Amino acid sequence: MKKNNLLTKLGITAPSVELIIQPDWATKHGITLVVKRDDLLHPLISGNKWRKLKYALIPAIEAKTTHIISFGGGFSNHVHALGYCCQQLNIQFTAIIRGDYSLNPSPMLQDLIRWKANIQYVDRQTYQQRTNPDYLQTLQQQYPDTLIIPEGGSQLQALKGVTEIIDELQSPYDYVLVPVASGGTLAGLATVINTGLNNHNTLTDCTIIGIGVLKGEGYLEQLVTDLLAKDTQTRSWHINHDYHFGGYAKSNHVLTEFCQDFYQQTEIKLETVYSGKLLFALRDLIAKWYL
Ligand SMILES: *Cc1c(COP(=O)(O)O)cnc(C)c1O
Repeated sequence: MKKNNLLTKLGITAPSVELIIQPDWATKHGITLVVKRDDLLHPLISGNKWRKLKYALIPAIEAKTTHIISFGGGFSNHVHALGYCCQQLNIQFTAIIRGDYSLNPSPMLQDLIRWKANIQYVDRQTYQQRTNPDYLQTLQQQYPDTLIIPEGGSQLQALKGVTEIIDELQSPYDYVLVPVASGGTLAGLATVINTGLNNHNTLTDCTIIGIGVLKGEGYLEQLVTDLLAKDTQTRSWHINHDYHFGGYAKSNHVLTEFCQDFYQQTEIKLETVYSGKLLFALRDLIAKWYL
């Protein structure tokens, strides 16, 4: 299948738009904020999940892969997006889910059930094996001709798809901010692909700032470093750990009120797991910068 056929088949509308937003907390300092609306790429495949899956799916389709396995929590956007892709592409999908949601499946899992995915609920200890080479080898032997995609879709092939976010940018930026959970998106944004073209899109003077959305000081940096090959040319990057709000998917009224206020000012809906924490962090960092 050609790349464009794949996009059509899945209903992906790339490239995504860059939208200037003007919340008062940025305009009062004369800062131009732009959001790359990857959330609008597709109604079900959330933006960065598509970026990370693209170059895993293309070879899988070319190799006529009939079965894909991946991992996630009960509310995983990655598993949801991949499940949808597999359903559209006629590939059997097995989701290995941390925890037993069989009695109260999340909206994502309800969709997977409708899409006839094979859902395996496993306990914490089994889930912890998800990156263990012996476990993966056993799984691979159990299911031959199966593509195993890691949690969050964050693997080496994912970086290429993510770098396309930078390629698409219409103007240069000083900073790019991104939420960090499994690190693949940050690693991709930090990667400089030397195309030989000397255009602004190489953005070599740009700093990539990750905002950790879970308690992961040190751990998240390691995930990103592990994804970046030693000889990869990278932009400068770091992860800020001050805005995880107590952990993954944890929130409080300060964050929800911020998201409501942001919606009133920009008409963009933020969720509190990723984008809410990101923009909250940005407002706070701007305020501190100008103190
Ligand atoms: C999954 C997700 C992230 C986290 O990306 P990683 O590559 O896992 O770090 C960030 N933002 C949104 C909206 C997501 O769905």
